Amino acid sequence: ESVLARIEAVEPKVQSYLTLDREGALRQAEQADIARKNGQGGPLCGIPLAIKDVLCTTTMPTTCGSRILENFVAPYEATVVTKLAEAGSVLVGKLAMDEFAMGSTSENCAFKVPHNPWKLGYVAGGSSGGSAAAVAADECFASLGSDTGGSIRQPASLCGTVGMKPTYGRVSRYGLVAFASSLDQVGPLTKEVRDCALMMNAISGHDPKDSTSIKLDVPDFTASLQDGLKGVKIGLPREYFVQGLDPEVDRAVRDGIRMLQEAGAELVEVTLPHTDYCVAVYYLIAPAEASSNLARFDGVRYGYRDRSADSLIEMYNRTRSQGFGDEVKRRILIGTYALSSGYYDAYYKKASQVRTLIKDDFAKAFAHCDLMVSPVCPTPAWKIGDKADDPLALYLSDILTLSANLAGVPGMSVPCGFSSDGLPIGLQLQAAHFNEEILLRAAYNLE
Ligand code: GLN
Repeated sequence: ESVLARIEAVEPKVQSYLTLDREGALRQAEQADIARKNGQGGPLCGIPLAIKDVLCTTTMPTTCGSRILENFVAPYEATVVTKLAEAGSVLVGKLAMDEFAMGSTSENCAFKVPHNPWKLGYVAGGSSGGSAAAVAADECFASLGSDTGGSIRQPASLCGTVGMKPTYGRVSRYGLVAFASSLDQVGPLTKEVRDCALMMNAISGHDPKDSTSIKLDVPDFTASLQDGLKGVKIGLPREYFVQGLDPEVDRAVRDGIRMLQEAGAELVEVTLPHTDYCVAVYYLIAPAEASSNLARFDGVRYGYRDRSADSLIEMYNRTRSQGFGDEVKRRILIGTYALSSGYYDAYYKKASQVRTLIKDDFAKAFAHCDLMVSPVCPTPAWKIGDKADDPLALYLSDILTLSANLAGVPGMSVPCGFSSDGLPIGLQLQAAHFNEEILLRAAYNLE
């Protein structure tokens, strides 16, 4: 009830929820209360959570922030949603996002644009902007986002929350509407590092319904939080402290690095020599996969259909022209071009080859360190509208987060300071595949 009251009070300003399920949430809370009294409450018993509107739910619509899926209710539930329910949590609602998770500010949402709770009128980041804003504004205790090229870590950083992109394969993608299938991963946004570990405990693990999920035991992610960092080697990637980095971001991240050193960590310099190619590689591979994944939204199988057309082709044309926003159309065009015969070798294939080099960079760097630390986003949050007409500027701001997805490694954003005008700044931690524990352990020392 207190979370619902808080939502009522601040939501007109924050604008993070696309769907709110008041009755459902109260009903689940009551059931959780009974379970708790009977000693049967799960590890998240009664905790009010909300999720990005890209995860399928059967009790609420799943719009992906798009007109083409307005009012669409999925016939099945995402595995992570089932797992959170089994852990006893209460699902309050679905959160705003860039259309089909394409964007870095959530301004590409067809229905509303979430504001940064620290400074209204500023972006909450994206694409999981609603997931970060809702946690930062106390409109839920924790949320789920999805991260294809930074979409959990960047909004977490801009809104001052903790956010984790798990290793590719750690968390099931079943019921996560696909953007770029080889990059997408679901993960938590939370107020504290311990909460992030608890959410990871609940959502991780092999799922026979997702052939890319890995058969690997899930550790108790809370177990090593207090182990300190003695003997832990932290790599500073030379290429990540680059020109263009806002001096206040640089200062806050270096303060955070000092705290990690005080906890016992040793610093080493590492190099990721192919960093310069990450933006180009990502913005070929992600649109290529997206153009294929989004072909299913044809007006026949899902959501919106234009009913005025008198031929099938015309119906496809009109449905997709009206249903998709500008950024989604841009990605479909770029992706279709990169995959088309004659261009495939020059673009998609070449990008896939360079992706392997980027992945090798990470393997080599992790031979010298246990984790890497860097900024998340080159600047703090900016004003809504400031970069909305400049897609290239937004693509470039993803430079520090894209590579974790290309390499498949886990990454985390942890608050490490504020800019002079009161906007939060996050620090990024990255580790080798399936080493989320070391990320959480390091992050715990930054609180
Ligand atoms: N900003 C990136 C993009 O627009 C990342 C999105 C994401 O991680 N979903 O593609």
